[in-house]
Amino acid sequence: MAGRRKRAKSPEPKERRSSSRVQELRQKERDEKEQLARERVKFLSDQGSELCDDAKEDDVSPNEGTLTTMRNGEDKNLDFYANEEDPHLKVRRNLRFFNTQYLLMVQAKLSRPDLKGITEVMKANAVLYPRKMIGDLPGIDVGHRFFSRAEMVAVGFHSHWLNGIDYMGAVEYQRDYANYQFPLAVSIVMSGQYEDDLDNADVVTYTGQGGHNLTGDKRQFKDQELVRGNLGLKNCFEHEVPVRVIRGHDCKSSYSKRVYTYDGLYTVVKYWAEKGVSGFTVYKYQLKRKEGQPELTTNQVNFMYGRIPKSTSEIQGLVCEDISNGLESKRIPATNRVDETPFSSSGFTYINSLKIEPNVKIPKSSTGCNCRGNCTDPKKCACARLNGGNFPYVDLNDGRLIEPRDVVFECGPNCGCGPECVNRTSQKRLRFHLEVFRSPKKGWAVRSWDFIPAGSPVCEYIGVLRRTDDVDTLTDNDYIFEIDCQQTMQGLDGRQRRLGDVAVPTDNKASESNGDENVPEFCIDAGSTGNFARFINHSCEPNLFVQCVLSSHQDIKLARVVLFAADNIPPLQELTYDYGYTLDSVHGPDGKVKKLTCYCGAVNCRKRLY
Ligand SMILES: [Zn+2]
Ligand SMILES: [Zn+2]
Ligand SMILES: [Zn+2]
Repeated sequence: MAGRRKRAKSPEPKERRSSSRVQELRQKERDEKEQLARERVKFLSDQGSELCDDAKEDDVSPNEGTLTTMRNGEDKNLDFYANEEDPHLKVRRNLRFFNTQYLLMVQAKLSRPDLKGITEVMKANAVLYPRKMIGDLPGIDVGHRFFSRAEMVAVGFHSHWLNGIDYMGAVEYQRDYANYQFPLAVSIVMSGQYEDDLDNADVVTYTGQGGHNLTGDKRQFKDQELVRGNLGLKNCFEHEVPVRVIRGHDCKSSYSKRVYTYDGLYTVVKYWAEKGVSGFTVYKYQLKRKEGQPELTTNQVNFMYGRIPKSTSEIQGLVCEDISNGLESKRIPATNRVDETPFSSSGFTYINSLKIEPNVKIPKSSTGCNCRGNCTDPKKCACARLNGGNFPYVDLNDGRLIEPRDVVFECGPNCGCGPECVNRTSQKRLRFHLEVFRSPKKGWAVRSWDFIPAGSPVCEYIGVLRRTDDVDTLTDNDYIFEIDCQQTMQGLDGRQRRLGDVAVPTDNKASESNGDENVPEFCIDAGSTGNFARFINHSCEPNLFVQCVLSSHQDIKLARVVLFAADNIPPLQELTYDYGYTLDSVHGPDGKVKKLTCYCGAVNCRKRLY
């Protein structure tokens, strides 16, 4: 009988590029877009000084520097979100797209990659909320965390990349809100000086904007005026219009060193003008949190205060100090705070590199590139050429994959580069502090104590490399991962196709074995030996994706299976990927179709794992 098999699904549909002629045209298109992006960013940069987080200055004309002015028309983003109905998934899709654009700009070594990333999102009509709205925005719940100001602009949650107050101007919006005076504030970003009273944050005092010296010491040099954002907040007071409040906090592990949490809707209960420390007039607003909104969760509080355990003695419910027995570069503790199950009951042996069954023949290592030190020049590096002319990774935060691909060609044993080469990103040692923890319904699960930037490798799926035919007799093995790179690339079996400019050779032709291309020939069995990847649960809305990686040979049927972060993952969020089971594909020893309920908890959960 067939064992249960995990198969990777792509997180995003990708358009497949084909002929070199098409590529040429695309390149031209890209160059033009690039030029346009440069001009737009120059325009943006001229409006303010820099994208300093939480600067409060809008002594520029109304809405200039606000990215909404760059958009032409409405609802053009319908195409971008055509396949998505759930607003949470739309937010994810938006942020994943932004992250990829951001990483591409970093790779191109352009200045202000965040601003350029936003511009790309706008050009693709991918801003989720191009029109400003009052109140909550679908898909962004109280407690949602953004990891840069740019992310909030890309979504359209706080559309100003510089100012603390985002507001609707009269011109665009008075038709929709005929009985209101404009401008109207829609959201404010607080810079984090209120971190001390986070637990009692229902009433906050907010200082208006303007009159600051932006380029120098940022001190007040003239009176604030009751205009623009300041007037917007006053009008919110007059009309009792709620304002979204976002708090910014320092966060070492976030890629922007900041994190922004949506705290919910507040109403302006009073406002006044006073003389500030510098002797100039400032406007102050008292805002009160509306009742009936979710409290901030413990996870968020932990995150804010950095209450991540620092030593094993601080870990609650510790059942194993290091499940890897020292094999990984960082300890991986196991904790259980939900029941009495000991960790030893999981009964497996930890290994951190693949074990290969004698009847699996690994092809000999390919030639590799002639680079020295690190691979940096995609024109000279043979491995970059295999990836379609550029490196799949960007040298940022120890290496991040720009986007999911059919297959990633990494440098291998015969390459001239050293172990720090960016094109060996998935071969480097474990970089995050992980914890295996007991969950109430799903058994063991995995989470990180560190922030994981999108595109970071989390781990390789490690176990025994077997022929799929050999495991068919095994039953009740939940830890089999089929290597189905080729299926992904050919779009077989309902898989979404990924980006890939590469022609991939295979030394093990499907016809040699069973002639059925839908059945992967090899799999990784982590039933009794493996690494922590075997504890990562399935989710219908995962935060990791599976990426096939080739690093020593070029046989995709024996590709390495590596899990990468699909999103910016905040600490303590469970790590998950889509097991990609086809429904009704799993049969029990009696030959009957087996069913397993999915407990992933996602809004769009398919309800069954298989
Ligand atoms: Zn290299
Ligand atoms: Zn190279
Ligand atoms: Zn190489």
